[in-house]
Amino acid sequence: MSKPKKRKPERGCAPHLAEVLTFSAKSRRPLLSAILPVFFIMLALLAHPAGAQALTVEPLAVLHDLPRPAEARHRLELRVVVLHEAWSHDEIQAAVHEAARILGQCGIHGSRVDLLRVNAPQAQRHFDPPQSRQLARALDLPKPALFFTAGTRQLPAYDAVAYGRSNSRRSPELASTVWIAPGARDLGIVIAHELVHVLMDSGEHVATPGNLMAEDTTPGNTVLTAAQCGRITDAGSRQGLLRGVD
Ligand SMILES: [Zn+2]
Repeated sequence: MSKPKKRKPERGCAPHLAEVLTFSAKSRRPLLSAILPVFFIMLALLAHPAGAQALTVEPLAVLHDLPRPAEARHRLELRVVVLHEAWSHDEIQAAVHEAARILGQCGIHGSRVDLLRVNAPQAQRHFDPPQSRQLARALDLPKPALFFTAGTRQLPAYDAVAYGRSNSRRSPELASTVWIAPGARDLGIVIAHELVHVLMDSGEHVATPGNLMAEDTTPGNTVLTAAQCGRITDAGSRQGLLRGVD
């Protein structure tokens, strides 16, 4: 996006104004209700000054059972980073499944999702561009990557922020990332909406009722047109964010 996709507090994305997109948290999510298999713990002693808190990365699960569209033509792999215990893993998994169903309209199959718990220094658990850049740089994850944060330090506070390449030229570590604060409603639709911004590299919204890329991310807004799918898959493939189906 040559412009950022910004989302208004509570719902919807505002017209692109700045270089970032943010999101606000309105309420706390339940504590973890499920304990997922812990395969191992990677200690990522990633560049941190002596005495600073280390960054640890704990893989929680690898999801392969996302809905597969009848005509799957593109594969999407996601990394999902959980930065705060306010997030329920059940909720995140259900939302990722819903997002996968929505993107399936475009023949996109979410073929793999790596769910990671990251124990980051306190300052990096919220969305805060300077801190979030440091975190993204230290983690250096394949993209796209979704970050489920402890909240946002940005004002105005948005409940989700997405970075394409075009709106992250001054902060390249954030390219192809999405940052979501607790309390974001209709989470599956929010994830799908923000991923479309990332894949299209565009902050554009449409006025068509029922369309996923309407400013408001509400339960009725889930449709993507053939033209949108073409742009999503072309741009996503060009950026290496989508791959062909084997
Ligand atoms: Zn938007």
